Amino acid sequence: MGFLDGKNGLVFGVANDRSIATGIAQACHAQGARIGYTHLPGEKMERRVRQAVEELDPTFLVPCDVSDDQQIQAAFAAAKEQLGQIDFLVHSLAFADRKDLTQPFYQTSREGFRLALDVSAYSLVAVTRELMNVQPEGNCSVMTMSYLGAERAVPKYNVMGVAKAALEAVVRYLALDLGSQNVRVNGISAGPIKTLAAMAVGDFGQMLDFAAQKAPLQRNVDQDEVGKTGVYLASDLSSGVTGEVIYVDAGYNIVGL
Ligand code: NAD
Repeated sequence: MGFLDGKNGLVFGVANDRSIATGIAQACHAQGARIGYTHLPGEKMERRVRQAVEELDPTFLVPCDVSDDQQIQAAFAAAKEQLGQIDFLVHSLAFADRKDLTQPFYQTSREGFRLALDVSAYSLVAVTRELMNVQPEGNCSVMTMSYLGAERAVPKYNVMGVAKAALEAVVRYLALDLGSQNVRVNGISAGPIKTLAAMAVGDFGQMLDFAAQKAPLQRNVDQDEVGKTGVYLASDLSSGVTGEVIYVDAGYNIVGL
């Protein structure tokens, strides 16, 4: 008996086997979920993502760049056709120009700001809207990935911190809009984990060392631990929880010094 027996999920954000989305998918699959995946367009990306999820019996794999509404529509059409009911949605993606994660924040360009906010925050609105288009009755748990840089000024996190602040606000507004259709929307704020996207953040190695030294649990977290919270949010265990951002960071966010 798994916590997600009979449940179907759509996962955005697998790039490789280290992606947080892969950790969530592995944990949900182990609890009985059937899952379809999206990948960034392109043969190379498809190959990489297929390799990362091949042991998880992917129901389907379709291309989707979330800055393109037509690709989002195509992904949800595939999900509806292949899965029927979509019980949970994992939005685990972000993007900013690498330059904007190394130079001082005040030098962020208008275009760099627009790009980071569009891909990393607006996309949650876009995918949730399409979910409601194909499944107007609702009944879904939507989760997204945030970071402490949404609330605190973290060196070099820069425009991505602003995007995560917007993303956490998006979580609350979507939760308020869609609660009456039993669509729950929550965020997981993970501690630093070595992934492809994380390596683009300047001085990421120092963030890992610092967090491990200061966190109450005296270590960093990993993809499996985020995955377990993903199972909680995808399942009926969290049936009364919406609009929340849950920290999975070994307790780092509570420490004052
Ligand atoms: P990752 O590189 O494995 O995943 C990032 C994903 O974003 C990739 O799959 C990439 O294909 C996708 N992506 C980028 N632009 C896209 C677009 N236009 N359309 C569709 N997909 C696009 O890295 P990750 O660390 O697993 O990141 C997943 C999420 O977790 C991100 O939101 C990230 O900000 C967040 N997060 C990461 C950490 C960390 O330390 N790794 C901590 C907290 C939050």
